Amino acid sequence: MFRVGLSGALIADQDKHWEGSNRHYVNDAYIQSVYTAGAVPLIIPVTNDSDVIDSILDICGGVILTGGVDISPLVYGEEPIKGLGKLSPQRDEFELLLFRRALARSYPIFGVCRGMQLINAALGGTLFQNIEDVPEFTIQHLQKACRQAVTHHVDIEAGSYLMDALGKTCLVNSWHHQAIKDLAPGLRVTARSRDGLIEGIESDNPDMPPIIGVQWHPEELTSTIPGMAKLFKNFIDLCRKRVH
Ligand code: MN
Repeated sequence: MFRVGLSGALIADQDKHWEGSNRHYVNDAYIQSVYTAGAVPLIIPVTNDSDVIDSILDICGGVILTGGVDISPLVYGEEPIKGLGKLSPQRDEFELLLFRRALARSYPIFGVCRGMQLINAALGGTLFQNIEDVPEFTIQHLQKACRQAVTHHVDIEAGSYLMDALGKTCLVNSWHHQAIKDLAPGLRVTARSRDGLIEGIESDNPDMPPIIGVQWHPEELTSTIPGMAKLFKNFIDLCRKRVH
């Protein structure tokens, strides 16, 4: 079966018998979404060893960069502001390396939330460290509604990967307080929320493999919104096509 790699994250266990034990994990919603799309998910552990990454990339044909904590502003050349959230420098280093190694192999890459921001930062773009500090962004992007709820619209650009799966407009969930500020060269915007924030990107350079990024969490919606399942399915099909 076709395999796709998912970037793992580290979490410290809170259980009293294992307190402080670090675990490598990926949320089940990603795993189920990849199964449903017809592929086998491989969790890539947080590592700064490129040999480890390469040996996992050898046995898969695409990469999903998962959601998570904020990216350190040092990655895009800024000092941290007061509104910055939690960081994981270890994970930043790991995912920047993973992104570069996957790019070097021309593997399709799908970035979700933090994953989309990582792609932009890795290619030389910048982020808003805290959109709450930017008055023009008036929509609630850190939703208080439950996990399966969709809370704001995004408008999608014609001729994009997102349009193919989701149409001209759709409702999305929203759990972010950071967003893309300056878009990196080689990328184009494919979706925006109605306050103008970038919610979707893709590669726009013939030398790059297909790169798709979304600011929302489609993996939480694949069982309720067919277009979100199609987004994963289309990505897996894209990966499969490039391998064979
Ligand atoms: Mn949003």
